[in-house]
Amino acid sequence: MTVKYKRILLKLSGEALMGGDAFGINRETIMSMVRQVKEVADMGVEVGIVVGGGNIFRGVSSQAESMDRATADYMGMMATVMNALALKDAFESIGTKARVQSALSMQQIAETYTRPKAIQYLEEGKVVIFAAGTGNPFFTTDTAAALRAAEMGCDVMLKATNVDGVYTADPKKDPAATRYPTITFDEAINKKLKVMDTAAFALCRERSMNIVVFAIAKNGALKRVVQGEDEGTLVHS
Ligand code: UDP
Repeated sequence: MTVKYKRILLKLSGEALMGGDAFGINRETIMSMVRQVKEVADMGVEVGIVVGGGNIFRGVSSQAESMDRATADYMGMMATVMNALALKDAFESIGTKARVQSALSMQQIAETYTRPKAIQYLEEGKVVIFAAGTGNPFFTTDTAAALRAAEMGCDVMLKATNVDGVYTADPKKDPAATRYPTITFDEAINKKLKVMDTAAFALCRERSMNIVVFAIAKNGALKRVVQGEDEGTLVHS
């Protein structure tokens, strides 16, 4: 089977792990995600994952309103570590080797991120789950995903969302909205389309790191993206 991308960085938001729940981690949802990732990993694709934390805590949420922002952001980064551990556990339950690397040191529960070790794991066919975002407050896991994708020399960054691509307008509000199969970085800026946060978008654009926005909940979507089929939206230079 032919694949378009040999090494991918998949950004999973915390919210994607909630499934239909109001918060936290939905077991069925996480199992379906790891099965999709296993499918592409078994095709020989090297997979790095950056996971968010919005299902547990966000530094900019109303819960954190009266808090010192940096403190709230560290809590948010810790939330991503919880999600990373849940993902690793889910991968292991289906026989896929996975390693968690955290941008914040938490020796007892996860290795601290180092670039050479992460690359080694990818080359060995292990799924690498990058936890704790960039390790710095005032950033998001989108930016962490763009950063790790660049550092790992990934062929593409895949942003898994609830909507299956970038649309001309919000498809929930405008039934006439249509999906862009492909769009350039400049078109996305000119049309003021929100693909991801600005810092992350700028980093991808500068590095000419293509992005595919797609819906991970759609069965088989990840495999279709990796095979270069018309799935989601490809953002390119
Ligand atoms: N965060 C941070 N620095 C980072 C990544 C994340 O401070 O490099 C914090 C921030 O508070 C953020 C929270 O962790 O709100 C959870 O990440 P994010 O909101 O990106 O998660 P997602 O929306 O993808 O679930």
